[in-house]
Amino acid sequence: MKTDRRDFMKKAGLFAAAACGGAVKVAGAPAAPGGSEGPADYTTDVLVVGGGPAGVCAAIAAARNGAKTLVIEKSGMLGGMATQGLVGPFMTCYDKAGEKMIIRGLFEEIVERLVARGGALHPKGVFGNGPYSAWIPKGHDHVTPFNPEELKVLLDEMCAEAGVKVLFHTMFLEPVVKDNSAAGARVFGKGGPKTVSAKIVIDATGDGDYAYRAGVPCTLGDGNGRLMPATMFFHVCNIDSKRLIADIEANKHTFHKKDGVSYRGFHWYVTKAIEAGEWDLPRRCLNMYRGVGPDVWLVNNGRIPGVDSTDSESLSKAEVEGRRQTKVMMDFLRKYVPGCENIVLMGTGSTVGIRESRHVEGEAMLKVEDVMNGVVPEDSVFLAANSVDVHGGKNNPMVSSYKTINANWYGVSYRCLVAKGVENLLLAGRCLSGEPAAAGAVRVMPPCMAMGQAAGTAAALALKNGVTPRALDTEKLLARLRAQKAFLG
Ligand SMILES: Cc1cc2nc3c(=O)[nH]c(=O)nc-3n(C[C@H](O)[C@H](O)[C@H](O)COP(=O)(O)OP(=O)(O)OC[C@H]3O[C@@H](n4cnc5c(N)ncnc54)[C@H](O)[C@@H]3O)c2cc1C
Repeated sequence: MKTDRRDFMKKAGLFAAAACGGAVKVAGAPAAPGGSEGPADYTTDVLVVGGGPAGVCAAIAAARNGAKTLVIEKSGMLGGMATQGLVGPFMTCYDKAGEKMIIRGLFEEIVERLVARGGALHPKGVFGNGPYSAWIPKGHDHVTPFNPEELKVLLDEMCAEAGVKVLFHTMFLEPVVKDNSAAGARVFGKGGPKTVSAKIVIDATGDGDYAYRAGVPCTLGDGNGRLMPATMFFHVCNIDSKRLIADIEANKHTFHKKDGVSYRGFHWYVTKAIEAGEWDLPRRCLNMYRGVGPDVWLVNNGRIPGVDSTDSESLSKAEVEGRRQTKVMMDFLRKYVPGCENIVLMGTGSTVGIRESRHVEGEAMLKVEDVMNGVVPEDSVFLAANSVDVHGGKNNPMVSSYKTINANWYGVSYRCLVAKGVENLLLAGRCLSGEPAAAGAVRVMPPCMAMGQAAGTAAALALKNGVTPRALDTEKLLARLRAQKAFLG
């Protein structure tokens, strides 16, 4: 389903108003105190909307490169899915051969600082087919297990050091678009509506909320309204890890796939639970990743089909279903799995995990064929080797596919981060411009952080050079990224 807000606005006769007055007028909202017509409540060079892995790296990079930077974040923490969603580990940051760390720069700095405080294991010593990778052999070498609480604090510190201003509990409401150029946003927080005036905006909402509302064409899911399933992540502890690991090691030779369904961790017990009427979940197995800390594990296993994260009603149902699924899995673990008799639920994500929503159109679009074949455009702002990972499954019309790439890495063009049609608007993270399956490769956290670093650096450089991000000399951008320890080949 192509969701082109311009088409909608044209049909509704609203386009002219948007073109000359900004999207706030399009929405027909009455001018509120602190609205876009009055003086701005906040004035900044770069506004980053969303403080997830992409947004936080965009903000730090923009500020370190000299731009006054403000992040607005609807939750009370930085880190997005990594902290609110309890998602982990950071997927691989190595080349396909597993020999070289290729996602570096800010991502590597975050990893090293976490490792130094005991909040992560360095990916160089973590391999696939073992507890830290849920025993998944393909594409899971060199993941980075981390503690989300340590990450929250570290990201606060890094933003403070860089001079980034962070506004928590603040929701993006409407873009302020002037002369077809992003000029800030109206936001809503505990103090009511406020206006932010900015020279460049970076949309790091994951859902492309800003770009969509500013009129940039977007595609929801695979283009036919089908979306990857959502998952409620949860963390558990008080497990006898030795016994749990021994059980999987003794049975992992039975892992297989049949009729499109994966039979992985504990499928030998899930079958029994199904027979006993104690398991009604779409998956026929239970995937657990070992975490950081004694006997801490992460469960990434629930499946909630058809969740549209751009719709609060859909999200609300998903939160409830995610917690219900968690209860089924906790009861199962306690009853069936050796070592889990006294298992404790440490927490479910404070938001359900969203794998996919809007793909925003940019100046270029990342193509799945190019990802698979290792194409490296000249203006690549980062390299990655993450597999094409599209989730579907039972009760979900999307077909699951997990394909490791045919090359050692691929590159992502800067132009995939430059929004189409609206000036001074950059994209970073899950909402980048890419074919849905290609986005399925770079949606994981290390590439999102690399995108953030690239977008933030580009925004600051564009301001320094007095040009729009679209007109930025990419040679200058690549040189700056290299100087800041990004690996570009
Ligand atoms: C179930 C699941 C399992 C996954 N497994 C892994 C894994 O093992 N390893 C891995 O590396 N990746 C994994 N991923 C992928 C990864 O977590 C996400 O794709 C990644 O976090 C995307 O980063 P982002 O910054 O683009 O978006 P997000 O992490 O979603 O961050 C977006 C931020 O923007 C904020 N925001 C959104 N809208 C607004 C708004 N309107 N106003 C204000 N703030 C807003 C949000 O609160 C959030 O903080 C998984 C994802 C899911 C859902």
